Amino acid sequence: MTTAVMKKKAVRDVDVQGKRVFVRVDFNVPFDDFGRVADDTRIRAAIPTITHLTGRGARVILASHLGRPKGQPNPKYSLKPVADRLAHLLGQPVAFAEDCVGPAAQKAVEALAPGGVLVLENVRFHAGEEANDPEFSRQLASLADIFVNDAFGAAHRAHASTAGIAAHLPAVAGFLIEKEIEALGALLEPAHPFVAIIGGAKVSDKLVVLQRLLEKVDVLAIGGGMANTFLRALGYKTGKSLVQEEMIRAAESLIARANEQGKQLLLPIDVVVADFFLADADHKVVEVDQVPDEWLILDIGPLTVKRYAAALKGARTVFWNGPMGVAEWPAFAKGTDGMAQALAESGAFTVVGGGDSVAALERTGYAGRISHVSTGGGASLEFLEGKVLPGIACLNDR
Ligand code: ADP
Ligand code: MG
Repeated sequence: MTTAVMKKKAVRDVDVQGKRVFVRVDFNVPFDDFGRVADDTRIRAAIPTITHLTGRGARVILASHLGRPKGQPNPKYSLKPVADRLAHLLGQPVAFAEDCVGPAAQKAVEALAPGGVLVLENVRFHAGEEANDPEFSRQLASLADIFVNDAFGAAHRAHASTAGIAAHLPAVAGFLIEKEIEALGALLEPAHPFVAIIGGAKVSDKLVVLQRLLEKVDVLAIGGGMANTFLRALGYKTGKSLVQEEMIRAAESLIARANEQGKQLLLPIDVVVADFFLADADHKVVEVDQVPDEWLILDIGPLTVKRYAAALKGARTVFWNGPMGVAEWPAFAKGTDGMAQALAESGAFTVVGGGDSVAALERTGYAGRISHVSTGGGASLEFLEGKVLPGIACLNDR
């Protein structure tokens, strides 16, 4: 793999001994019906940066958003349970401040000893956060000496705690952001052959990424709901399948562009069709030109999985975004499972990104055999689109 050069300063480049370090993390975790943390993956992902800092005698101040409290305090979106889970994972006490700015936050920071950890209450309890209000940014910054951004999942947002604060403090990347920039950056300068597998619901969500990837890849394989629109562009009947009529022209021009550039653009050759959009619908595998009028395509078929898996043989770089079918339902998850296995066995540098894609990958059990599983859904796609991510752009250059 070619390693993208990290142009931004990182947490290991700064002296943090005794300093107050404001770390923006992504603690936007799911909760169960009893108000308990249902999945602590995002909390665990922040631990390398936290222990690096505590191990060097920093005073660690952690800030995050949780849910959409719309600029108002709301106990439902309190980060207190997250602070408790973090204490358990770190094996050390974690202080909690009832507010992320003002006297409560200031007092909690003053009480922090070197090596100590504090979690601030949800930054979105203040409207200034999402508005990227300069005064709110200044209040956050006044708590600390250094800003570390480690919230890749929020890096595509220009909010006070993800970007605005960097105007007031030395600003560096945490380990998680650094890892994301390196892995996703490697896709922009890929070792060839480079194969991208793109699925998911809609062409419109991914059109820019598809266009951009087409310039970089040797093979682009398309699955999921969006493949239907491409099949229509080729003149196939897709019955009652999800199709974006208004995107058929865009699909046609992508196919044409792939041909001009001598790129392979692969589309399903067989599909799993269902008589209803239901988990337990009647279903069968048909060739792509045999989709019955009243049925819907809900997965790629076994021959397509074989075809796409064969395209991965010898690949050196693989990027996958978007489930190959309605992978939430076991009857329509086989295409997605098959691609997860093919990536795991490819021997290539493999990157998987996207909220639903990563959830589907975790269910397959192959996640541990993927080189990089991106923690950013929207952020990873915007990075690949070549957009400037405010949460990264605001960091100090090397
Ligand atoms: P990601 O979050 O990984 O970027 P998307 O949000 O684009 O992925 O797509 C995931 C959604 O696409 C899932 O909810 C899945 O059920 C849906 N989907 C995949 N294939 C189909 C299909 N053939 N018909 C309808 N929906 C589909
Ligand atoms: Mg999604």
